[in-house]
Amino acid sequence: MAASQGLSLAAFGVTSEDKSTSEDKSTSEDKSGGEQPVKKKPCRACTDFKSWMKTQKRQTTSAVEESKAEQEPQDPQCPLDREELGRNTWSFLHTMAAYYPETPSPSQQQDMGHFFHLFSKFFPCDECAGDLRDRLRSNQPDTRSRHALSQWLCRLHNNVNVRLGKPEFDCSRVDERWKDGWKDGSCD
Ligand code: FAD
Repeated sequence: MAASQGLSLAAFGVTSEDKSTSEDKSTSEDKSGGEQPVKKKPCRACTDFKSWMKTQKRQTTSAVEESKAEQEPQDPQCPLDREELGRNTWSFLHTMAAYYPETPSPSQQQDMGHFFHLFSKFFPCDECAGDLRDRLRSNQPDTRSRHALSQWLCRLHNNVNVRLGKPEFDCSRVDERWKDGWKDGSCD
């Protein structure tokens, strides 16, 4: 976020102790009255499909079948794994930035800053959310304008891409990707 806005992370309620996660911390009382952790299914949104399948010990009997299953698109009516959640979430975030006001009011700027910090507390992939909270501590959202926010988000996504070994995106083309369509007309 622009330093000129004078908004600090503390204003967003983010502290270094903030360790919100989507892990289910449910407990139940045992017979002696003590609390025992309840065994829950692993978090599907925190892992990729391959790892998820391994934890479920389902279907695949051979490496070929396992690889085939990984490549097949998952049923769109099933819960999202980390990859799908990430892809869909980036789509939403970039589109939101693409339609953010060109000249936002101070209150809109503040709200957008709050949005990202709250989002980082509730994003249901623990590893992703923790990484995002770390990034936001030193790289606050630049909410001064539509262009500034879109570019900030593009750079943030690229930082995640680098961490995951994915190619970086050309941020000069972010509006083509998320708002106007490619200049070659392929989206028209
Ligand atoms: P994605 O990275 O999902 O990108 C979707 C599309 O966005 C691409 O096809 C491309 O057209 C476009 N794009 C790519 N880069 C940019 C950019 N810089 N700017 C604009 N558009 C771009 N996964 C993990 O395994 N570990 C993590 O720590 C992790 N952290 C995440 C944090 C957040 C906030 C989010 C939303 C997701 C995170 N993910 C993480 C998921 C991960 O980033 C990917 O979404 C997932 O691996 C699927 O990748 P993908 O190759 O389909 O493309």
